[in-house]
Amino acid sequence: MSAPASPKAAGPAAGPAGDLPVHAVACPFCGAGEKSCAVAGLPNFYRPQCAQTFSFSRCAKCGLVFLDPRAEDLDQVYGDEYHKHQAVARRPGALKSYTRRLMHRVFLDYPPKPLFAGVLKKLWAARWARYQEEHGHMCVPWAGAKRGRLLDVGSGSGEKAVKFAYIGWQVTGVETDHEAAKRACASYPIEVRGGYLQEQKFPDGIFDAVTLLFVLEHVPDPLGVLKEIRRVLAPGGALMIDVPNFDSRMRTAFGLAWTQYSVPEHFLLPTEATLRKMLDAAGFRVEFVQHRGSLNNYRTAQVRAQELGQLDPALPTEDGAIRHWIKTECRAPHGELMLCLAYRI
Ligand SMILES: [Zn+2]
Repeated sequence: MSAPASPKAAGPAAGPAGDLPVHAVACPFCGAGEKSCAVAGLPNFYRPQCAQTFSFSRCAKCGLVFLDPRAEDLDQVYGDEYHKHQAVARRPGALKSYTRRLMHRVFLDYPPKPLFAGVLKKLWAARWARYQEEHGHMCVPWAGAKRGRLLDVGSGSGEKAVKFAYIGWQVTGVETDHEAAKRACASYPIEVRGGYLQEQKFPDGIFDAVTLLFVLEHVPDPLGVLKEIRRVLAPGGALMIDVPNFDSRMRTAFGLAWTQYSVPEHFLLPTEATLRKMLDAAGFRVEFVQHRGSLNNYRTAQVRAQELGQLDPALPTEDGAIRHWIKTECRAPHGELMLCLAYRI
């Protein structure tokens, strides 16, 4: 009937106009080539006009789920509208700033140790629990004798990194998007360097803590990044990671509409087991992995599932009922998002 398709070239596969050029990849963590399909047919919600769909494979050796095939040109992957170009964080008011710093001094041993720390600990127990629930990623235990040097990897425009400066850290950021890095330096009292982490050539052990907040899922070489983080961390230094969880109840509930597929940007989606494997291989000891779900992401997934005609009518629709559903369904190991604290061995 029609002419046979031309044989595939060795380079990226050419698709219809507007499609990203993509190519098949081996497991980005262990390098194994043997894999099976984990999920296919994922639409690109960032380019709804484009018919190209994406899929994730599962590594037969280590179990990691990764985008396959994928595009390598990050400018094409992210386009101009990506969120790292946006948002400016306002500095919290003086009282809020003071209270937050004091809370970190009371609960996480930030210096200097406050007077009446024991009393404040009792008085603020409920308040701290609420803060931890809402701002878990900010709860990096103090490390470092004097200065508290924190490296934020993948800072975007710096709006998250600067919050660590406000609670007492001396912050350095790294961001692959040079324009976003420049904007961060111009907007906030922090240094954000443009380029890849490995390009910065930081001396060994120069940082006391590292944050990797919604970044690991974007990197082509997760083990390389984690090993480089270990190298620049001082012995006993802390690493805080926030990352989506493939083994998520929200994913099974919303199917292709799950927000954390986020193709073609998310190169990998760990589970708690594969996250622990990666950290172990890179030389970290995991302190905890906490699971949670997000009401906003639930709402977004709901709209998308409706658009796709795949919304499960049994899922709750009212805020209160959704919160209850998230609390009961998105528990370990099935949270939508995982917050992980690890220490350099
Ligand atoms: Zn693997």
